[in-house]
Amino acid sequence: MNIFTFQDLLELYPYRHVDRTKISRIREIDQQTEYIQVAGRLISKDIVGDKRARRLVAQLRDVSGTLELVWFQGIHGVQKLLQVGQEYLVFGRTGFYLGSPQITHPEIEPYAGATPEGRNFLEPVYPSTEKLKQRGMGGRQIGKLTQTLLGMLKERDLPENLPPQILQALSLMPRYAAFRQIHFPAQPAEYAKALSRLKFEELFLAQLRMGLIKSQRHRSSQGVVFGQVGELFNRFYSRHLPFELTGAQKRVLKEIRRDTGSGRQMNRLLQGDVGSGKTIVALLAMLLAVDNGFQACIVAPTEILARQHFLAISELVKGMPLEVGLLTGSSRSRERKKTLGSAASGELHILVGTHAILEDPVLFHRLGLAIIDEQHRFGVAQRASLWKKGAQGLSGIIPPHVLVMTATPIPRTLAMTAYGDLDYSVMDELPPGRQPIGTVHRYEDKRPQVMDFIRHELSKGRQAYIIFPLIEESETLDYENLIKGYENVKAWFPEPKYWISRVDGRQPAGERETNMSRFLSGDTQIMVATTVIEVGVNVPNASVMVVESAEKFGLSQLHQLRGRVGRGAEKSFCILLTGRKLNKDARERINTLCATNDGFKIAEKDLEIRGPGDIEGTRQSGMLNFKLASIVQDRALLERARDMAESILDKDPELRAEDNKGLRTFLMLQKGKTQWSKIS
Ligand code: ADP
Ligand code: MG
Repeated sequence: MNIFTFQDLLELYPYRHVDRTKISRIREIDQQTEYIQVAGRLISKDIVGDKRARRLVAQLRDVSGTLELVWFQGIHGVQKLLQVGQEYLVFGRTGFYLGSPQITHPEIEPYAGATPEGRNFLEPVYPSTEKLKQRGMGGRQIGKLTQTLLGMLKERDLPENLPPQILQALSLMPRYAAFRQIHFPAQPAEYAKALSRLKFEELFLAQLRMGLIKSQRHRSSQGVVFGQVGELFNRFYSRHLPFELTGAQKRVLKEIRRDTGSGRQMNRLLQGDVGSGKTIVALLAMLLAVDNGFQACIVAPTEILARQHFLAISELVKGMPLEVGLLTGSSRSRERKKTLGSAASGELHILVGTHAILEDPVLFHRLGLAIIDEQHRFGVAQRASLWKKGAQGLSGIIPPHVLVMTATPIPRTLAMTAYGDLDYSVMDELPPGRQPIGTVHRYEDKRPQVMDFIRHELSKGRQAYIIFPLIEESETLDYENLIKGYENVKAWFPEPKYWISRVDGRQPAGERETNMSRFLSGDTQIMVATTVIEVGVNVPNASVMVVESAEKFGLSQLHQLRGRVGRGAEKSFCILLTGRKLNKDARERINTLCATNDGFKIAEKDLEIRGPGDIEGTRQSGMLNFKLASIVQDRALLERARDMAESILDKDPELRAEDNKGLRTFLMLQKGKTQWSKIS
């Protein structure tokens, strides 16, 4: 159970408490009952079943009814101990078998009319494992160990680690008392106070650690300086920018300029909703780098997206003295060689590409800014490979500034915990004139009407996406469905004026590219695709998206997919097709999507439905492994913890003040526990 030290044992918290002074009636047991203590007379005991299914079954009767007690292990020993006709006190976890209540492997002892001395009014129940239980180390025994340990511990063994002003401000229970009360509370109210104290401590320390890493990085990491806004930036801004920037875009650009001008390395996460206009922000930031004599690169998650960025950027900067190159896994070797050469010589200003950019052979002359698009998962190793590509300074290589742009918003609480050591910008404003996408749910038998609706939109000159799931576990079947679906769509649209692109991950790259670009240019009106188009694809003329088997997609994924429409001025629509049978979670996902277009709200809902462990990219972050706190339920506490950690570090960045000594000592002692990396 990962218990190696006394501290580990102390932090194995009971998952509930039960009242062991109370004796219930057998009749009270219902499906909701979990643990119960009853007293009654043993009226039978029999060993039944053969060999592997052999078990001891006993009947206990009180004035209200009969309860079955079952043992699978130690059958003969127990049978010898139990006497029919004797009164027993029984405690355990209840279940139902063929409609009658039973307890498997109960705690049982002779009963003399009163609960024995020393029983707790709130007795802790601890988790254990089957294996441990078989060796006599069940939850009860663990509780005994904990009780013994607590008996040995003095106040100085569990010194206070939170500063007095925090304890006071939040009227928190002292640490020593909290550890006692969370295990063996005197009253439910004491338990609640102990729980909230220890939850706060958990969240606060995590925030403090991240704050320390961040401030350390700010102090120590040297970065290249973009000191001026130059010719290219200004020229682009005044002559090439096709629209007015939104307030949010301007704010983020200011933040980037401040960071990159500061002399320290920027490590910034840019959160923006689908369609909020991150690309143009990225381009302006890259122009800033080039103006200051550096190169910049933008890394996209897919080849389609890299190519699209390349084309869009080339178009936007047309006529400017700027070399833009493209590098992907499938770049031809001659092209590739040329691109690599000009990146290394410094001739190339902006390199657009896939993760191929991060590979070793790609060398830059002076890389000053790396942008990672549509991705919040960006691993340590990948970051490290970027660092090596920086510019030569006086004392070694200076790493480039890094801007990571998310694909969809991340819930605030998650960003605070999992990415709290990054600087962080939010773009929560869409460009003006966007109409919310009308999203509806339809059952699959309405497909004919849906197809008619598509035809109606096409007749107005619009384009449409039809998306099929392609899930790893059922890949072959899904693929067949996609092909079938494609044939069906062809049959629905026999008119010679309508052309259909099919894009999926199994096609040869060349075929995929061709189909993609035909849709981009409007030569085809319908695209039948899998989620390869999930992120980033920008075809403003597309106004309808139909998602087949929408119940198979996750919430953020659906939001991201839907973001492929509604990118122009026209009203757009998203139709979620499902079968009639939907489970609760799927229905909730679909309803959420129909109800809102706000990616930030959707992200919160996603976290609520799935829990933090399942949100992409956070599983290994290790920062979400709280023992007590939950970033979903304890959101308010988390925000307080963050504010308090910030205000302490503001005043005392190295925790040298007398009041913060407890914290400092504690963090030093804990250091080995968490592996922090300078490159986070
Ligand atoms: P995302 O944030 O999802 O990557 P994009 O950068 O692809 O979004 O932008 C979505 C669309 O919005 C593009 O067609 C882009 O040209 C347009 N756009 C971006 N910023 C603005 C703006 N300030 N005003 C109008 N249109 C904008
Ligand atoms: Mg984008």
